[in-house]
Amino acid sequence: MIIVMQPGATAMQIEDVLARLAELDLSGQITQGEERAIIGVLGSPIVPGFGAAMEALPGVEKTLRVSKPYKLASREFHPTPTIVHVRDVAIGGDEVVVIGGPCSVESAEQLRRTAHGVRDAGARLLRGGAYKPRTSPYAFRGMGERGLELLAQVGQETGLGIVTEVMTPADVALVGQYTDVFQIGARNMQNYLLLEEVGRSQTPVLLKRGLSATIEEWLLAAEYIMAQGNPQVMLCERGIRTFETATRNTFDLNAVAYAKRVSHLPVLADPSHGTGKWQLVTPLSLAAIACGADGLIVEAHPDPDRALSDGAQSLTLENFARLMVQAVGVAQAVGRTMQTSAAMSASPVV
Ligand code: PEP
Ligand code: MN
Repeated sequence: MIIVMQPGATAMQIEDVLARLAELDLSGQITQGEERAIIGVLGSPIVPGFGAAMEALPGVEKTLRVSKPYKLASREFHPTPTIVHVRDVAIGGDEVVVIGGPCSVESAEQLRRTAHGVRDAGARLLRGGAYKPRTSPYAFRGMGERGLELLAQVGQETGLGIVTEVMTPADVALVGQYTDVFQIGARNMQNYLLLEEVGRSQTPVLLKRGLSATIEEWLLAAEYIMAQGNPQVMLCERGIRTFETATRNTFDLNAVAYAKRVSHLPVLADPSHGTGKWQLVTPLSLAAIACGADGLIVEAHPDPDRALSDGAQSLTLENFARLMVQAVGVAQAVGRTMQTSAAMSASPVV
């Protein structure tokens, strides 16, 4: 349920509503709109007659039932788009923001070359995994804390904010010392203790959609983070598992457009994991921007054939730069802005 306050409601009246909720073992989260405050009621069950009782309180205009099981993440609760700020980058506004970088941090040299390459092409944030959730326990599982140190160093050198994955609640404090954004990987989307732990921080979170998660389950995962007090959540579609085997995953652009409609959170798209094939990354990046994605997260590597993870879906730095030039055209066509290198002219990915 949502409690809509009158335009002139005082801070004291809002406090009174929160106090009444507390008496009923419920809690409220306030969204201050331009005209009025909205209080989202959290907890259940809500007793019969509750709405009328709330509407009788001074300063309350009306109560509304939220039709979706997720509340804080829903547009009904928060009609205007949320903008997530990472250093000087605003995600969820006019700009289409591109996060570029390797799947895994492999060495100082590899990370530095990639970071400079993607930054010079217009990427606004640097991605790279130090803790890698690999399908096989025998595959390269990341450099651990040394990888985090390299990310922080290269981030400083290039001025790019860092996005890196955290896999367990126990690592949140450590990873939080190095990163600007916590990435929650697809395999951990329903690790509720991890979601709650990042929810207790004030670091922005990029929440990948689980391999077999419905859109509703994905939004409820966002709700777990937000219910702990961290509103800075970005959703990321990265492909789901279907009967199709020609591509690594089925990149669900329905989910991008749908999540934009039902949620106020920024929605990013990951065409690298969504397709698993570098040849498909550019066309699907363009499609994701065209259907409303607020940004992309794209894997790039100076030498994809030698990458320790996800080489088959990683763009060379040259192809990354070409993608950026093409993407700007699509961004502009749908009324968005996007940063790119002025030096590059549009040429097809080869
Ligand atoms: C990644 O970003 O490298 C990754 C492991 O992604 P996902 O969790 O979407 O598979
Ligand atoms: Mn990867």
